[in-house]
Amino acid sequence: MSRYIGPSCRLCKAEGTKLFLKGDRCYTAKCPITKSESAANVRFKRGRPKAKASEYGIRLREKQKLRRFYGMHEAQFHRIFELASKMAGQAGHNFLQLLERRLDNVVYRLGFATSRKQARQLVRHGHFLVNGRRVDIPSYLVKAGDLVAAMEKSRETALIKENAEVASAKPLPQWLEANYEKIEGKVLELPARDQIDAPVTEQLVVEFYAR
Ligand code: SF4
Repeated sequence: MSRYIGPSCRLCKAEGTKLFLKGDRCYTAKCPITKSESAANVRFKRGRPKAKASEYGIRLREKQKLRRFYGMHEAQFHRIFELASKMAGQAGHNFLQLLERRLDNVVYRLGFATSRKQARQLVRHGHFLVNGRRVDIPSYLVKAGDLVAAMEKSRETALIKENAEVASAKPLPQWLEANYEKIEGKVLELPARDQIDAPVTEQLVVEFYAR
């Protein structure tokens, strides 16, 4: 399946929620979802109720929302789900945890990139080390205790420097620790469900793939 190259905001509109695909713009009033929220509420209240979606439709939408939130291809996304379902514990939580453990996601969560898309590109271009070794695979899974750091010469890259500067003033997920001067971060522990802000009911995604 080819990668979606259309406007990111269209994906949020399709899912009816903010998927935070465009970096800082997503947090401003320029976000089309924010802009249209009040108008949409009015329309919703005035308009005819929508036809009830089927159970399959609801699960499919939830799965698509999560896949788009992490910006992944279906095949790759499904492979991670298969891995999660073979692990001990709840498949839904395992799935979210594996998605969060991806190196591109961790670079984004640390604030060294403004979106997962940008983080993926920076990782692919070899700007990051994990425990001192260069890793250019966005799907690399970090573990508790891992240290993710920008390469020495990458610390001077304007984009990464600027991202780190902005991120230093923002809250960081509790499972991560960052040093914005050195542009490095540590995975303190793997994230609990309430530390993952994915806008989905993961059980519906599990039920979608279990059908
Ligand atoms: Fe666009 Fe970001 Fe708003 Fe989504 S959350 S509609 S990507 S600006």
